[in-house]
Amino acid sequence: MTLHIPFDNSYARLPDGFFARQGPTPVKAPSTVAFNSDLAALLGITGADDPALAAILGGNAIPEGAEPLAQLYAGHQFGQFNPQLGDGRALLLGEVIGTDGLRRDIQLKGSGPTPFSRRGDGRAWLGPVLREYVVSEAMHALGIPTTRALAAIRTGQDVIRERPLPGAVLTRVAQSHIRVGTFQVFAAQRDTDRLQTLFDYTVDRHYPHAKDPLDLLTAVMERQADLITRWMAVGFIHGVMNTDNCALSGETIDYGPCAFMDNYDPDTVFSSIDRFGRYGYAAQADIIVWNMAQLATALVPLMPDTDKAVEDFTKAIHTMPDMLQQHWRQRFGQKIGLAEATQDDLTLIGDLLVLMHENSADFTNTFRALAEGDARDQFTDRAGFDAWQTRWKTRLDQETDPQTLMQSVNPVLIPRNHRIEQMIEAAVAGDDAPFHRLNAALAAPFTVDEAFADLRRPPAQDERVRATFCG
Ligand code: AMP
Ligand code: MG
Ligand code: MG
Repeated sequence: MTLHIPFDNSYARLPDGFFARQGPTPVKAPSTVAFNSDLAALLGITGADDPALAAILGGNAIPEGAEPLAQLYAGHQFGQFNPQLGDGRALLLGEVIGTDGLRRDIQLKGSGPTPFSRRGDGRAWLGPVLREYVVSEAMHALGIPTTRALAAIRTGQDVIRERPLPGAVLTRVAQSHIRVGTFQVFAAQRDTDRLQTLFDYTVDRHYPHAKDPLDLLTAVMERQADLITRWMAVGFIHGVMNTDNCALSGETIDYGPCAFMDNYDPDTVFSSIDRFGRYGYAAQADIIVWNMAQLATALVPLMPDTDKAVEDFTKAIHTMPDMLQQHWRQRFGQKIGLAEATQDDLTLIGDLLVLMHENSADFTNTFRALAEGDARDQFTDRAGFDAWQTRWKTRLDQETDPQTLMQSVNPVLIPRNHRIEQMIEAAVAGDDAPFHRLNAALAAPFTVDEAFADLRRPPAQDERVRATFCG
């Protein structure tokens, strides 16, 4: 028996100009670090045994039915438009339809150069591959829309970064890899035919109820507002919200220098390349509006009346801050046990966050402690917390089961940066045990398990991660 992936490809059927056909570049000695058998079962994948598994997902053999290709896209990177990016180190092998009826892409990341590699080597090193594996699977377990990790394969050859590092290939699964940047590339080329084809394909695949570009824009805005506020509710910072890293499906995509916040500070930035905090924790709710405005701009050529389109799209974009605010209020209300937070509850939520900021309280542990009924120790200003708690308790009198609600939305465990760094360091030294342990713990992030008590601790002073890097 060898690896069988039931491919049913649609992107490869699109006309010329959407992608470049390109196979993976073989590697020296592929070996499997991890294979996600639960996800494989959902996708109908069978016979996943080594050595064929490592050979195929490491890029040394092309599985039956695959039609590997590098997708074309453009994108605003830190606000700067780049008219041609594309998969520089990733390949779409093809698509499968899961047992849940959903179509998903199977993509290799780190599989060698493509026509879009520019000066890059087309490779990834083990650190970012394992980081994306752990964090994307953790996000999924946290209930946040995200691409997923099917496999991580060591290549047996080094990649050169600041120093030689072990290479790896990630197999990523996504509802699609259509990005805001995919629309931007054809809009920039003034290629209305391909733009229309992409629009039809996207509507068919993700938004079958959308009748026109305005419908699509509004539906994507809704999903993104939901997504970004879900990120904020777990302290997640994506780190590179460029328009090429913003998926039309509404899934979190492209885990680079992403990080989870330890102590609460709305200005938190980890990414070493984000020098002005464009993609900092709280800024995410602003930049997503900017990204949606770029999508709107790219959709204008599809409208018969440009002036009217600009007017309608502008109006739609202007509704997004309110949309975000409503989602945010709902999420953060639930975090303090309010089933339906109202406008009047914003002060209560906001005052807690101010206290947390002033006290450098740990974001995850404070909210979980509220759910467990003992949050006082998270604050140095005990009197300040007590005063807030009195107001909170009064408000909770109107709720039926706030504790159960809070325990279902406030995780016990998140993939803390220092644990990720420690896991990567161990894996580079050949020890994959911390990687497997993190995956096991983060599969049930809302469950208190004494065996993983150490993973709840915030970083000690010398464990603190100050910056995260791209792969
Ligand atoms: P990212 O920062 O991963 O979203 O990547 C931005 C762009 O740079 C994408 O077009 C990638 O395909 C490309 N890229 C990133 N790293 C590499 C690499 N090592 N080799 C080739 N292209 C890369
Ligand atoms: Mg990217
Ligand atoms: Mg501050």
